[in-house]
Amino acid sequence: MKSDELLDLVESVINDDISLIINMKGFSMFPTLRPGDRGLIEKCNPKTLKKGDIVVFRLAQKIIAHRLIKIHSIDKKIVFITKGDNNSFIDQTFDVAALIGKITLIYRGTHTIKMSNLMMNVRKTEALYFSRLLIPIHHFILRWNQTGSSIKNRFSNLKKNIEIVIDSVRKEFSINAIISVLQGIIPFIILICVKKFIDVLTHGSLQNIHQQKQFILWLVLTALFFLISGLLSELREYFSEKLAQSVTKRVYLQLHEKHEELDLSTYENSSKQDQLHRAVQEASFRPIKILNELLITFRSVASVLFLFGLFVFIRWYLIIILFVAILPGILIRIKFSRKRYKLKDSQNTREREMYYFNRILTGFPFAKELRLFGYGRFFRQKFHNIQNDLFDEKITLRRSEMKWGIYANIFSIILISITLAFISYLNIQGIISIGTVVLFFFAFQRGYSVLNDFFRSITQLLEDNAFLNDFIQFLKMPVKQTLGEKSSSFSLQHEIRFENVNFSYESTRRNVLKSINIVIPAGKTVAFVGTNGSGKTTLIKLLCGFYLPDSGRILFDGKEIRELHSKTLQQNITTVFQDFALYNITALQNIALGNINADFNERKMEEAARKAGIEDVLKNLPNGFHTLLGSLFQGGEELSIGQWQKIAIARALYRDSAIILMDEPSSALDADSEMQIINNLKNLSSNKTAVIVSHRLSTVQWADLIYFLDQGEVKESGNHHELMEKKGLYYNLYQTASNFYC
Ligand code: ADP
Repeated sequence: MKSDELLDLVESVINDDISLIINMKGFSMFPTLRPGDRGLIEKCNPKTLKKGDIVVFRLAQKIIAHRLIKIHSIDKKIVFITKGDNNSFIDQTFDVAALIGKITLIYRGTHTIKMSNLMMNVRKTEALYFSRLLIPIHHFILRWNQTGSSIKNRFSNLKKNIEIVIDSVRKEFSINAIISVLQGIIPFIILICVKKFIDVLTHGSLQNIHQQKQFILWLVLTALFFLISGLLSELREYFSEKLAQSVTKRVYLQLHEKHEELDLSTYENSSKQDQLHRAVQEASFRPIKILNELLITFRSVASVLFLFGLFVFIRWYLIIILFVAILPGILIRIKFSRKRYKLKDSQNTREREMYYFNRILTGFPFAKELRLFGYGRFFRQKFHNIQNDLFDEKITLRRSEMKWGIYANIFSIILISITLAFISYLNIQGIISIGTVVLFFFAFQRGYSVLNDFFRSITQLLEDNAFLNDFIQFLKMPVKQTLGEKSSSFSLQHEIRFENVNFSYESTRRNVLKSINIVIPAGKTVAFVGTNGSGKTTLIKLLCGFYLPDSGRILFDGKEIRELHSKTLQQNITTVFQDFALYNITALQNIALGNINADFNERKMEEAARKAGIEDVLKNLPNGFHTLLGSLFQGGEELSIGQWQKIAIARALYRDSAIILMDEPSSALDADSEMQIINNLKNLSSNKTAVIVSHRLSTVQWADLIYFLDQGEVKESGNHHELMEKKGLYYNLYQTASNFYC
């Protein structure tokens, strides 16, 4: 319903003296309202309205509920002045014509609160006389709570997502985590060793044996920790590679498995395609990136804790100075990480468009037309326009981040310089040793980068998590098509029946199939004929269980298709699609794909090739059936499109299922090949249920039953002779086709 229609409805309901309950949003009448409150509107006489009432009126296309703060009379017309959420300090004015009614009751959960009760009257007084003070306080508390819960949500979501990513790589991750923690601590231990080393040197010139022993001890320890540090770096390289490999393997497995089980409609819906695009893009690197960030966080936490101990030893307040020095940088990072995600999100559709144009400009399927029509410039222009826009937006954001980053750095450097001067002053005063000064210099320098790393990795984790969410959401995408029980076995004995089937594609919502009532008897050959777009392929897709009808039923021997598991359907059905796939693998493997779970039976595959009329061609290839097909890889033999189609038919025949669905099986074949395949199909279909879609009537004349479709409806049915005698749509189409071919 349009908003003005809704408004009219509201008004007519009220004018007819019927009360209406509305959801109340906002906190305009502070502190009366709470989230989720609903208000009862009642019609009222404008003359009875008083200051403090909550009035409901229409403003542009909206219904507004506000606190009434003044009633004026201008030129004998009554004008109401109100205060609301967005106009805490600006008054809203409306006249009697816009008045709908007033709120008399508030429903809060299971409670009902009368506007006339004591509490509401106290609130009314607050709202009327103290709003300037109270509304900003209330808004601040509200925003504070919202920010708090949003941060809490982001972290709990991060935890959940990390658990999903770590799940199968716990061992590798734990090893990396231990190495990271040690890497966080060792540099500080080295620092302490160096401090001791300098202190020994500056206290006399190694004159006594104790000093010499001390000198050697700290020298050896320093060297030892340097060695450990080097060792850890090597170990980290090796184990992080192992971790990356395990995560990548797992992620790709999840990605591929999920794609396999997704509804076909997912690929036809543009917003879902955006989601798929993001998921595929992110899956390649984001999970491993997030684990690496987590390891950096571990390292930073270990360093920060150690550093904290060190600063307590030098001067505890220095850690606060350090923290303040990096704070602006952190805030800027958080702010820009959110902006980056929003930008990426807003660029997603355009990015997908850009990749599409890139595919046109670089992909083989478009290469012929691109040269012939010379449309390269057109698509290059489109590609560059989008690319320029996307790059400009990114660089503008980077520029702004860089500017604020420079300000933050200047602030930190000033603060650190002052602190350094202070520490030097302490040394001059003899309060701390030169070793401690050196320790401080290094610790401060390390501390600065460690704290920076820590907050950077936390913000980076949250940013990466926002992207990882896309992948996790993709893995959680619902799969509608899991039909009945997996174990249910089925073999067609009697018939497939469509009862009043209506269907529309999700993307268009246009009824593509209308009240379809057809029967496909078991063991018979049934053909769907009709003009382009009449719904023939859609019927085949429904038979495969790719989509479910919007209404009506598809019954296999009286059992509804929803009750059959998709695997059961797959076992019973084999299909050749009009847009069959070309696989750049060997000829034998191409055919084997038709029944990939069966034992590899070369003889049967050759038989399927013979029935599809491609056996001789394949035998004569350089390596016979073992020749690589297609031109993608070296040594591949390219076939004609008709030959590819025959391979697709051989693939379907090799499956040897009880039901064969063929959507335009001979569209790319010459007349001889078509006849040969038809003869084979006739023999083949004697004990099988075959459904053939064709616009070439010669292909289907011999079918037991022909359905003529037009604009999604079955207009005629019968065998060829019956339909010809009818002299209807089928007859006309047949005549036209014969005249054309004569
Ligand atoms: P036919 O096989 O008889 O040529 P189809 O079954 O392919 O016809 O198409 C029937 C109608 O459904 C057409 O109007 C077509 O535009 C529409 N259609 C087909 N596929 C889709 C799809 N994936 N999404 C939306 N509409 C579709």
